[in-house]
Amino acid sequence: MRYLIISDIHANYAALEAVLADAGPFDKIWCLGDLVGYGPQPNECIVRLRKFPLTCLVGNHDWAVIGKLDLRYFNNEARTACVWTRNALTPENRAYLESLPAMCVESGYTLAHGSPSHPIEEYILDATSAEHNFAAFDTRVCLVGHTHWPTAFWQDASHDHFCFPRPPLWRQPITLDAGRWIINPGSVGQPRDGNPRACYALLNIETNVWEYRRVAYSVEETQRRMREHGLSRRLIDRLASGH
Ligand code: ZN
Repeated sequence: MRYLIISDIHANYAALEAVLADAGPFDKIWCLGDLVGYGPQPNECIVRLRKFPLTCLVGNHDWAVIGKLDLRYFNNEARTACVWTRNALTPENRAYLESLPAMCVESGYTLAHGSPSHPIEEYILDATSAEHNFAAFDTRVCLVGHTHWPTAFWQDASHDHFCFPRPPLWRQPITLDAGRWIINPGSVGQPRDGNPRACYALLNIETNVWEYRRVAYSVEETQRRMREHGLSRRLIDRLASGH
């Protein structure tokens, strides 16, 4: 079973379409949250995703948009984008975001937006933040999003606490065997690792084979739509640099 693993789409429909076209056939999508916020096409992204077999989590931006997270925790630009999204969202799509869990276990994998300890808000940025999270889930592998960084942390079965970062290898399948993993597919719609191309992964849930991928999309198309909606200049510019 070949699964498409995506996260942090942030209403960037052009990036989502590029990922869907590049991925090839897949059986199901696991989406790790933040469907909306920042980008110009929240409704289109939600409707498109729901056409596939899908397990989808809610993220902190989704929560902010539906009023479950205080906007004071966001910077000015994120807050403005959330308010714009709140007004743009159809009632049906809002109800869909309200229905989503922040964490779940499926087919022997744990899925969480931020971390298994704090599914909505914690960022797993480094080995230190990953290490304490290995105690917070029971499966061998946990998939997370939220940081917008494609990162993997691996804990050898012989080590109690320590874990090691594994840099992403593009289009080179790796087997998530031996030991435990916390792994982030990166961001579809707002990469922050210095590479503007949309980031995602494929996972064979029977063989545990994971493959990181990047794909170019029309950044200009998304930027044009963001300008039309008066979204912040910095949010528009950062898509081109991937920061
Ligand atoms: Zn995000």
